[in-house]
Amino acid sequence: MSPHLPILREVFGYDAFRGPQQAIIDHVAAGGDALVLMPTGGGKSLCYQVPAIARQRAGHGITVVVSPLIALMHDQVGALHEAGVSAAFLNSTLTSEEASDIERRLLRGEITLLYAAPERVTNARFLAQMDSLLERGLLSLFAIDEAHCVSQWGHDFRPEYRGLSVLHERYPSVPRVALTATADALTRADIVERLQLESAELFISSFDRPNIRYTIVEKKDASTQLLRFIEREHPEEAGVVYCQSRKRVEEIAVMLCEAGIHALPYHAGLDAAVRQRHQNEFLREEGVVMVATVAFGMGIDKPDVRFVAHLDMPKNIEGYYQETGRAGRDGLASDAWMAYGLQDVVNQRRMIDESPAGEDFKQVMRGKLDALLALAEATDCRRVRLLGYFGEPSMPCGNCDNCLHPPQVWDGTDAARKLLSTVYRTQQSSGHSFGAGHTMDIVRGKKTDKVAQRGHESISTFGLGAEYSEQQLRAVMRQLIAIGALHVHTEEGFSTLHLTEASRAVLKGDVPVQLRESTSQRGDKRSRTRSAPAPAAANLGQDAMVRYINLKAWRAEVAKEHNLPAYVIFHDATLAAIAEHAPQSLSDLQGISGLGVKKLEAYGPQVLRVCQGM
Ligand code: ADP
Ligand code: ZN
Repeated sequence: MSPHLPILREVFGYDAFRGPQQAIIDHVAAGGDALVLMPTGGGKSLCYQVPAIARQRAGHGITVVVSPLIALMHDQVGALHEAGVSAAFLNSTLTSEEASDIERRLLRGEITLLYAAPERVTNARFLAQMDSLLERGLLSLFAIDEAHCVSQWGHDFRPEYRGLSVLHERYPSVPRVALTATADALTRADIVERLQLESAELFISSFDRPNIRYTIVEKKDASTQLLRFIEREHPEEAGVVYCQSRKRVEEIAVMLCEAGIHALPYHAGLDAAVRQRHQNEFLREEGVVMVATVAFGMGIDKPDVRFVAHLDMPKNIEGYYQETGRAGRDGLASDAWMAYGLQDVVNQRRMIDESPAGEDFKQVMRGKLDALLALAEATDCRRVRLLGYFGEPSMPCGNCDNCLHPPQVWDGTDAARKLLSTVYRTQQSSGHSFGAGHTMDIVRGKKTDKVAQRGHESISTFGLGAEYSEQQLRAVMRQLIAIGALHVHTEEGFSTLHLTEASRAVLKGDVPVQLRESTSQRGDKRSRTRSAPAPAAANLGQDAMVRYINLKAWRAEVAKEHNLPAYVIFHDATLAAIAEHAPQSLSDLQGISGLGVKKLEAYGPQVLRVCQGM
């Protein structure tokens, strides 16, 4: 038995460690350095919280948790207080009295976990306090959360994270654990180098999130598609909708509100107070849909987000996986849904082409975008591709769109050759390149003004692809870009198509181009029989359901009183288990998952009263 199991049971009320948690906790608690890669919802927090408690009990003093998420520190610390752990945060939201009070407790070694942002941790005043703790043997551990922020290859690069190398340089004897939910090989190597974790033990969990169902649909009328998806699959449920731009966030939020959905916008252009208010509403109320740019979501540990929808394509698979991973942390069935179209491809290329970055960097970014395009165009299991990207082999999952409804495939080789040869011929005859729309017009034989002006009716491929619909040609074009046989180049706002090395093989007919049939959205309501577990209360009998509903109402009051999200008090699953047990005494409550000693003491009597209908 792990010496740390008693802490898990007593403080957190959980029965057993999950996956690699025990190995990580034993290693870190014993003073080893670690780099932990675990998917969102895998249980990273316990990997430093349990060692922090164990080491504090053994007299080693405080653990400093570096987190970029000032807006969430209050709730994180609140959750620890609820579990009876002495925790605090230091950030700019505190008054100077509050901050000095915490510093006093810190210096007395009374705090077990201290949360702080990287810029705070690396400032001179804080380092001087750390020096004093170190001298007295009270500096126990550094936990660096969201460690991918240190890398420019990650998708949330924070320059302040670079300064964290000072921790190792200044306190080489203090163990460190760095944690992240996303890191491909490149990012991982970068984290190790930047944080000087060369001798840290690496713990990599499976990245699979079996309860998340992946679906990628062809974008037609994105907002209608989104609305239909939410109304059909997730009415009254919490979700996040990601959009590329602030303007789009606002439009979509308005559209959803008008359709009667409780939706809120979130983006960096909103006032900080408004952002915080919307975030709190999302965390504290049930069934809120947050419409957001990527600025939203990191560190949000709301367990019952039932769907994450992408209306625009992210930059790369890391971003996509991190964002979709915010669904279903509670392990219950959830959806990751994305609508994607040719314009997304063109936009993403343009952003890379027009960025001021160096050519090497752009090349890496293009490669990452291509991998995401290939995922979107895939006709086989999405999960196999996602996991494969993170270096994890797997079998078709049975819980993604392609597994559930294998797409019809058609042979687009002929259409692809006609498109490519049109790109070639227009370039030859005019001496410069054209965009996707014009190229498709030529292939389909459309006599537009531009075609007439340029004399492109005389191009030998003119009208050769008249049998293809525009939608089909768009699909072919996306696929060609995805496999690198066509390059989109953007200059001064105009996107043009160019042949690449890989075009030749397609032109010669050596590389077949397989495409998914673009079906219109399926009209049938998808069956709810999923391989993942049903929502927490699905199996309760009638009496238990009444108790569950009463418990939820009681929890809402407590949460409000404590100014914390409801799930910080108890998860739905814990309430459902209590309701099912119909407890008559405090001892009946013992052993229910999520009920630690402190919560049993603080809430046990009230929970009993609620269950007995008093
Ligand atoms: P991450 O930070 O990796 O995204 P969290 O630390 O937020 O994940 O954990 C996800 C959820 O799983 C939380 O609600 C947490 O309470 C729960 N959890 C973590 N470890 C265990 C465990 N050993 N037993 C039961 N629940 C756990
Ligand atoms: Zn699958």
